[in-house]
Amino acid sequence: MTAVASFDVERIRADFPILHTMARGHPLVYLDSAATSQKPQVVIDALVDYYTTSNANVHRSVHYLAERATTAYEEARARVGRFVNAPSPESVVWVRGTTEAINLIATSWGRRNLSEGDTVLLTEMEHHSNLVPWQMLAKPRDHGGIGIRLDFVPVTEDGQLDMDAAREKLATGPRLFGFMAKSNVLGTENPVAELCALARANGVVTLVDGAQSVPHGTVDFQALGCDFLAFSAHKALGPMGIGALIVNPCRYPEMSPYQGGGEMIMRVKLATSTYKAPPICFEAGTPSAGDAIAFHTALDYLENLDLSAVHAHETRLTRLALDLLAEKGIKTFGPDDAALRAGIVSFDVPGVHPHDVSTLLDGRGIAVRAGHHCCQPLMRKLGVVATSRASFYLYNTEDEVRQFADGLDHVREYFKR
Ligand code: PLP
Repeated sequence: MTAVASFDVERIRADFPILHTMARGHPLVYLDSAATSQKPQVVIDALVDYYTTSNANVHRSVHYLAERATTAYEEARARVGRFVNAPSPESVVWVRGTTEAINLIATSWGRRNLSEGDTVLLTEMEHHSNLVPWQMLAKPRDHGGIGIRLDFVPVTEDGQLDMDAAREKLATGPRLFGFMAKSNVLGTENPVAELCALARANGVVTLVDGAQSVPHGTVDFQALGCDFLAFSAHKALGPMGIGALIVNPCRYPEMSPYQGGGEMIMRVKLATSTYKAPPICFEAGTPSAGDAIAFHTALDYLENLDLSAVHAHETRLTRLALDLLAEKGIKTFGPDDAALRAGIVSFDVPGVHPHDVSTLLDGRGIAVRAGHHCCQPLMRKLGVVATSRASFYLYNTEDEVRQFADGLDHVREYFKR
């Protein structure tokens, strides 16, 4: 692995082979890391190495390869826990990603602790993965739900959570408050510690969607004092198909396994079973061991960087993009203060559909995302059906931000806007 003592974007780029791709005849400018990050060579190597030297089903056999795979898999669990300062490796539940983690909470905790009429508080900026699982519980019993009520903290004009409303709503006694640490559309970094403290003071269980914040290395589970934290490896330099749910151990006794099968059991009779202790009882079936192990490598890579310098770099790129777009009269969504929103800029080129923006930029090798970003309610709040979104990560450069802004001139010329 390349040791990077201080932040040097060109040295970082050298570690990511895909960034040297030619896309549509141009050097790739990858501005879609909020959808998924690219992977450094060490992570790709870790995956290949696992299947070359260590592949075996974990926790099942005692042979050499099985022991090797199981040890690396459990070391990866501990590594993930350390990265977000979880209380112990046992508080890390492997899942496929943020979506599965939230579904696990809704089912394992929600179905056991919520009753008809109970309120789950969410926010208007949530990703569908923190809306739909709760909507399922809000359905009546004859439609598979339990009839909970949903309430929402509004988003202000400048794309932040309305903290007065959050305070008021938390005081009305919701059972759980689920919110994203950082918006994948607005880039807004929510005051997670303050929200968790408010929730705690009102006896409300907290679920933090860390999909967009954990990749930037800024999340300390114990300092936040939340109950559940969900995130995906693929947005943090790791592979797809693996992620983690961090559980405050005081919540484990309130949860029941929601999937049954191999590995999660102690003893099985024909009609009944007993289960292993958490986290294993929440991990039925063969896990993505190679992906977990490569995630370990990704987190080593991230922590080997100066993460505060990385954050400053991402903030600089964001500021530059906001300024360049403002100069061009292109509307952006979310807070104007780049320090409150590092890494993500959603925008609207007047009179041009975001998919056309994306297609024309793609013609120059520039990858941005267009669409509702799995946040349809937020789109409605913003008064649009879709936005274009550029998202920056540690390997992007100021030059790429300028190419992106120049690309928008081309879009406007093309559409005569
Ligand atoms: N939450 C947020 C804020 C996201 O940005 C995403 C993915 O874009 C998710 C949840 C869902 O993550 P995954 O698809 O990895 O489960």
